[in-house]
Amino acid sequence: MEPEGTNRVLQDVLTRPDNETCADCGNPEPDWASLTLGVFVCQACSLLHRSIPHISRVKSIRDTWEASEVEIMADLGNNAAQAKYEQNVPAFYYRPTHTDCKMLREQWIRAKYERNEFEFIEKQEPYTAGYREGFLWKRGRDNGQFLSRKFILSEREGALKYFNKQDARDPKAIMKIETLNATFQPAKIGNPCGLQITYLKDNSTRNIFVYHSDAKEMVDWFNAIRAARFHYLQVAFPGASNEELVPKLTRNFMKEGFMEKTGPKHTEGFKKRWFTMDDRRLMYFKDPLDAYARGEVFIGSKENSYTVLPGLPSTIQGHHWNHGITIVTPDRKFLFACETEAEQRDWIAAFQRVINRPMRPQEYAVEAHFKHKP
Ligand SMILES: [Zn+2]
Repeated sequence: MEPEGTNRVLQDVLTRPDNETCADCGNPEPDWASLTLGVFVCQACSLLHRSIPHISRVKSIRDTWEASEVEIMADLGNNAAQAKYEQNVPAFYYRPTHTDCKMLREQWIRAKYERNEFEFIEKQEPYTAGYREGFLWKRGRDNGQFLSRKFILSEREGALKYFNKQDARDPKAIMKIETLNATFQPAKIGNPCGLQITYLKDNSTRNIFVYHSDAKEMVDWFNAIRAARFHYLQVAFPGASNEELVPKLTRNFMKEGFMEKTGPKHTEGFKKRWFTMDDRRLMYFKDPLDAYARGEVFIGSKENSYTVLPGLPSTIQGHHWNHGITIVTPDRKFLFACETEAEQRDWIAAFQRVINRPMRPQEYAVEAHFKHKP
């Protein structure tokens, strides 16, 4: 067959519904293929396939293809690969998308094709056993130094614990699975495997920052935490489907970044703070890696008299960033200033998303308990 004819046949294979999105991250219109695995992937994933050359040999769909190569892809394709390499992915297991960090996407590809974790369920023991212990590098609360600490995740106890000394009998902290969240934050933590673990203690948010030098170990911890959350929620919400529970296992923050804020009297001047929008909780910190939030603002729904407006009241004086945001709550107005118009737009969109969403019954309890620190 002439190359042109071969590439036309390849185009037909590419328009098959299963091949319209990247086999690994779901990105539309994949333009690379793995000839050895028989999958179509996006360019970003094709670069990760290059890190496992003994498993995957990639080729651009724009190259010239041999008829035999096209035949391989026609016989296999993303559906067939999914049936083989994803046959036993646990419901709680995190499946990355194209916006996730490189480490998560690379480990997903390695778990599927290199370690064959989802073909042989005995390989899933690190995150399915309900118990996991090991050492992680944990950032010191005040000095910012990473020190090796022993962690234990126990589903039976419903907690993640860590110990300050290797022979200590009592844990330094007990983090209940119920309020635990974990999210990869490589840029903020300054490590490609940096994981932020957030939990509630006495209704205020506490952060710890950890990493493991081995990416597989870190992703195993992450999925072990998701498994523990899954099993906890299955008991807490009997009858709920996997589709309802899985989005609740871990949350990525809706937005993070610096803004300026004033106190409740609006006269003390604007101070620069790091803000994290975690669902309806807007938390602020002096430094992105602070253990505790300086304060938190609960953002309810429009039905409950929460509004977000661009700009600041005209009476506001003093020096501050140019792009203001006013959040009106039933109790008070919160004033923020953004450095750029793009930041202002992104923050307003994030606030608007939760304001437009009706409040769930349990969120009224959070609102009622909410203690705002000025
Ligand atoms: Zn991809």
